[in-house]
This record gives sequence, C-alpha cells and structure tokens, in this order.
Amino acid sequence: MKVFNTIARKKEEFIPLSEKEVKMYVCGPTVYNFFHIGNARTFVVFDTIRRYLEYRGYKVKFIQNFTDIDDKMIKRAKEDNITVKELGDKFIEEYYKDADSLNIERATVNPRATEYINEIVDFVKELIDRGYAYEVDGDVYFHTKKFKDYGKLSGQNLEDLQAGARISVDERKKDPMDFAVWKSQKPGEPAWKSPWGMGRPGWHIECSCMAYNLLGETIDIHAGGSDLAFPHHENEVAQSEARTGKTFAKYWMHSAFVNVNNEKMSKSLNNFFTAREILEKYDSDVIRLFMLSGHYRTQINFSMESLESMKAAMDRLYNSISNLESLLEETKQEELMDQEVEYIKILDGYKEKYIEKMDDDFNTADAVSVIFDLIRDINTNVKIDSSKKLIKHCLNLIKELGKPLGILQKSKKGNLEEKIEALIEERQQARKDKNWALSDKIRDDLKEQGILLEDTPQGVRWKRA
Ligand code: AMP
Ligand code: ZN
Repeated sequence: MKVFNTIARKKEEFIPLSEKEVKMYVCGPTVYNFFHIGNARTFVVFDTIRRYLEYRGYKVKFIQNFTDIDDKMIKRAKEDNITVKELGDKFIEEYYKDADSLNIERATVNPRATEYINEIVDFVKELIDRGYAYEVDGDVYFHTKKFKDYGKLSGQNLEDLQAGARISVDERKKDPMDFAVWKSQKPGEPAWKSPWGMGRPGWHIECSCMAYNLLGETIDIHAGGSDLAFPHHENEVAQSEARTGKTFAKYWMHSAFVNVNNEKMSKSLNNFFTAREILEKYDSDVIRLFMLSGHYRTQINFSMESLESMKAAMDRLYNSISNLESLLEETKQEELMDQEVEYIKILDGYKEKYIEKMDDDFNTADAVSVIFDLIRDINTNVKIDSSKKLIKHCLNLIKELGKPLGILQKSKKGNLEEKIEALIEERQQARKDKNWALSDKIRDDLKEQGILLEDTPQGVRWKRA
C-alpha cells in the first residue's frame, strides 16, 4: 500500500510500526461553531482512510481531538454570554449529530484539550528542562532555533522563515518564529494553574500532548487539512521530537481544500456552507460521493449543481441495488449455474481493481469509478433467471466496496416500501379532501415508478407493474 507522505514529499510504501495496528491522529475541529463543508471533507477523507485500513485488516486506533480552548472559543463564548466550557459542550454535541449524519465512524477517543491541562503542563515543563522552551512573564515559548530540524515537515529552513516572517516582532521572544506553548491569563479569560502562573495552553501543544498520551511517542499517521502543515504540524513535530528525541509521526497526510463555485470559501464572500445546511437537503451517501469523487490531495469545487448530479448518480446506484433485491425475491433458481461461476470471476476482477486504486494513496476517485463500472456490468448481466447465489454475491460485493467509502450500505427496499405507503396515505387524505388533482398525481407518479395502485374494499393495495 502506498501513501503520499508530506514530510518525504513523495509516495512511500505504508509500513506501520506494528504489523496489525495503526496509530492515527487527526486534527479535529475548534468547537465554537457548526462545522463547514471544508471541515467535513477533511473528516470524511480521514474517516475513509481509516475504514480502508480496517478493510485491509488493520486495527486502527483513531484519535481526533476537539480544540475547546483558544481565542475563537473565548470570543464566541463572550458574544453568547456563556462560559467557554458551555460553548464547547454545545458544539461537541452538534459535532456528533452532523458527523453521525455523515456516516463518520466514531473515533476511538475524541480528547478535549481542556481535559489534558495537567499533561500539557508536564509537557511544557519537560521542554523547559531540556532547554527547548523558555518563560517570559508567565508565557512560555518554544525556542525554534534550538530544534535543528525546524522546517523539515513543510520543507522550509528557519532562516528563510525568519526573513519572511511578517509577524510583528515580539521583543520578549528570542526569535521571531518562536511560538507560545503556554499563554498567561488575560483579564476575563479562563485559566488553569501552572508553575508559570495562571494561564492556558497554546494551540499546537495540545495535539502533541494528546497524541503522546493516547498513542505514545511515535505514531503511524498524523493527518489534517492542508492548511495545518505549517505552522501547526511543523510546531507539533518540533515540540514532540524535542521532548522524546524520537520520530513523532511516520506518515504525514494532508487533504486539500473545498472551494465554492471556484472561489475560496469564506463568510465574507457569502459562499459559506455548514455541513448541517447541506445535510438538510442531501443524505450522507450523496455528500460522501461528492467528497470522495476527487482525490483527497486535489481541491474539489462545491456547488449545488455538482451535488444534484451526485444525487442522480447515487439514485441510479440505489435503483440497481433495489432491483437486485427484488430479483433475489423473485428468482426460482437457487444454485449457481456454470456460466455464473465464470461471471463471478469477472465481478471479482472489479474488486481487485478497486483495491489496486485504493492501495495507491487512497485513490477514491478511481475507486468510485470502479464501483460504477461494476454496477453497470451487473445491470446488463444479472436478470430474473439469475441464481439467488449470484444475486447475493453481487449485493455483497457492492456493499463490500462501498463500506470503506461509507456509501451504499442502506437497503433501499425497505425504504422504498415505506415511501410508497406514505404516498398512499397522502393520496387517501387528498381524496378525503376531494383534492382529485393531487390524488391523481400521486397515482400517476407511482405508476411512472412501476407501482400500480388498486382500490379494494379492504383498502388500497399496491403491486409492481
Ligand atoms: P478548524 O476547526 O478550522 O481547526 O478545522 C478543522 C479541520 O478542518 C482541520 O483539519 C482543517 O485543516 C480542516 N479545514 C478547515 N477549513 C477547510 C477547508 N476549507 N477545506 C478542507 N478542510 C478544511
Ligand atoms: Zn492539531
């Protein structure tokens, strides 16, 4: 299996530290708001990568943090007149609602930064003891010059970074690139006790610390959106490796951004969508298909039109599934017939192709195409006289290949029946209301989908045409 490793700037063979288990850390959301479709892509991408690793037989220990203390949290809590803790509680709950709706598997642990204050303080103490950090007036800074490899993740050297640093030079820092690992309390801000007085952790240190405490000194995969490579992940490498003297993460993975109508998404451009707004209109299969139909390292362009076309594509896939489910009930043939044994070999070729694509740096774009090709093949070759065994094989194969992508797991049959029942109810009501136009329309719409209604003395019955 090959993975593009940001730190190596190339694809590398994936060899985890332990043969069976993968330790994976993904930077999660700052919980001051509903998450947006850009965040959603990052979460869906790494959920898919985790699922695929599981599909390939690894046990994955998957950590994704919640940043529940930082400037944005403090500002928003003030605006809403609630505590930072209350704000965090609220948006963590909202995060789970949306993530569950997006069919994102729950992490092994979702640690909150504020639950790790003691461990963070220990981390900072150790950095100071080892000469990698220094205190000034209650703030503690990481001394970048001390860490020889600073810049190795993003491929920059410290001199160039410093020369280009447009940050206002803080006289109290030894070097302009030095960054805060501990921040002293400002009036009205939440704060915790520390050897340097009341204060709170800097942002970067929380991820170094929680990865260390939950996964150990060296982890297999560290991931996040591409905006995080510098400075967030660069600073994490510096802190973690300064502390342990060991490699922090073997593989660094970064997923590309979502643009909206070919522009950067931002509140000021008024092209900003929360995941929730989109989930009100489309289900997870459609949204995930959209997110995964581009490779995770290329930007994707969001528009309502592209979601509409994904929806049409997904409807076609599910129509094929529900068709197979009906055939399975109707066919009289139980056992595989000779020519079907050969056909199963052809079908399994699609699975090999899919694995080849996903093994190549998780090429979901091509893997999705393979699923479409597979279903097209099944549509033309599986018929009413096919055997139950073959039809089941087809259904299982579609589900198997859909699962790592988090799609195609629903049985549409039940759904379809429920929908028909609901429409019949609606038609009955229309008739009671003497709304003949509506009642005729429902009957005609159903007929178009191949469903015939029969009015009988016992009530309305339906059957397939
Ligand atoms: P944040 O809540 O801004 O800290 O971001 C949470 C995660 O979403 C991080 O991994 C970010 O890199 C990622 N992210 C933020 N904005 C976008 C975007 N427009 N497209 C893709 N990922 C993003
Ligand atoms: Zn992080």
